[in-house]
Amino acid sequence: MVTATVPAQQVKIGPTQLLINNEWVESVSGRRFETINPATGETICTVAEADAPDVEKAVQAARAAFKGGEWPKMSATKRGELLYKLADLIEQNIDELARLETLDNGKPVHDSLGDLGLVIACYRYYAGWADKVQGKTIPINGPYFCYTRHEPVGVVGQIIPWNFPLLMQAWKLAPALATGNTVVMKTAEQTPLSALRVGELIIEAGFPPGVVNILSGYGPTAGAAISRHMDVDKVAFTGSTEVGHLIMEAAAKSNLKRVTLELGGKSPNIVFADADMDLAIEGVHQALFFNQGQCCCAGSRLFVEEKCYDEFVAKAVARAKRRTVGNPFDANTEQGPQVDKEQFDKVMGYIESGMREGAQMLCGGTQVGDRGFFIAPTVFADVRDDMKIAQEEIFGPVMSIIKFKDIDEVIQRANNTMYGLAAAVWTQDISKAHAIANNVRAGTVWVNCYDVFDAAAPFGGFKQSGIGRELGEYGLQQYTEIKTVTIKL
Ligand code: NAP
Ligand code: MG
Repeated sequence: MVTATVPAQQVKIGPTQLLINNEWVESVSGRRFETINPATGETICTVAEADAPDVEKAVQAARAAFKGGEWPKMSATKRGELLYKLADLIEQNIDELARLETLDNGKPVHDSLGDLGLVIACYRYYAGWADKVQGKTIPINGPYFCYTRHEPVGVVGQIIPWNFPLLMQAWKLAPALATGNTVVMKTAEQTPLSALRVGELIIEAGFPPGVVNILSGYGPTAGAAISRHMDVDKVAFTGSTEVGHLIMEAAAKSNLKRVTLELGGKSPNIVFADADMDLAIEGVHQALFFNQGQCCCAGSRLFVEEKCYDEFVAKAVARAKRRTVGNPFDANTEQGPQVDKEQFDKVMGYIESGMREGAQMLCGGTQVGDRGFFIAPTVFADVRDDMKIAQEEIFGPVMSIIKFKDIDEVIQRANNTMYGLAAAVWTQDISKAHAIANNVRAGTVWVNCYDVFDAAAPFGGFKQSGIGRELGEYGLQQYTEIKTVTIKL
């Protein structure tokens, strides 16, 4: 049951202004907007609201920092040291940051701490890369010496979502800074606070003015101003596929800026009857319900082999009923509130559509408590491929279980989607595992595990789940331009 959560006053709130050129400033318009605690629906505080004129100021600061001053002269090793320093500062403030993330986003505080472990690892991983990004010497025909340089793309716009605010900030900032770019970042309107606190640590770490600029604000105003800006060289976006289309369109209509997109998914999670059942039950449960179901890679199309279907459904429902929903500051809580009223209503709408279209709702389906945006873990069985809940990204704690007969059929059905972000298979048969890994069109395939993330392993989507990869060595490539230099000998 939902109990009182920690009042906002007991969590240290960091800066609430815009970070431009290493200074904290109000927006040009003077406007501010409220950010709310989704566990209570109450306002935490207001933050400065960026719009096009603030984007203009931030882009100018980022351009100046890219062209002159300390940053372009700084050695790659020194850039790495700054990133290590930032990782250390985040680690020193890990509890404070976790509480702030939980207050603004609603995720259980132990999940915030888990995210922060990945955040710190990501900054350190790319700190290590900073002085290892190198070109090639190329043996071309004729009396020439030819080599390549990997140069920074320039001023990079980064637009991030609310489901993993600190982690998405790290995935975007770390490779951009390791390779010498400068950044204008827009955080999600729902979750501005933790990124701003990291802004303070960025200044403390010693990054020169203008290298990182952080703007709180809305997508259609500040976000759109970044994506159409003529002096932004690249935009990196994580969020909905719908907005991903808008970003590409804005890039196409402005200066053909480079675009990388990490978008939605409807990831197939396939359980064969020969799987280790206990492992699979817990695995598929976390794959769907982790982070209140608000994961781009959630295992939201759960295909279960006919032979074990009834047993599996019963166990999956029993596990969902045991899931603890409530105060995200309580150590025993597995699930907090959805991020805001809009997402709450959207998820409840999908639950209604599942019932209307004839799926069998076996648990959940209701709000938990009477304030905040909590939804009971919900399981639908007998879901058909053509139902809305099997096709669209729900982004909430709603499991859809679908029956299948054999491997060829399930591969074909798993691929029958516009998305291609992730997939998983649960089996003890290595041939089946490889067949799924090779034939499902998705950027990541997990075998007998789910949501295993590491800064070294690339992540991103096939099809309409995105363009480009984040993390790992592949993630670096998206932040450099290749220059070919040819010298007559
Ligand atoms: P969204 O609108 O795609 O938000 C992602 C980011 O894009 C936010 O910073 C948002 O700003 C910004 N944005 C919105 N419109 C923009 C525009 N026209 N130009 C530039 N930037 C823009 O996602 P949402 O509305 O928060 O959530 C809707 C659905 O998207 C969810 O239900 C879920 O299905 C999906 N989603 C996916 C991910 C993911 O990790 N792939 C993350 C979040 C949401 P605001 O702060 O104003 O929203
Ligand atoms: Mg939005």
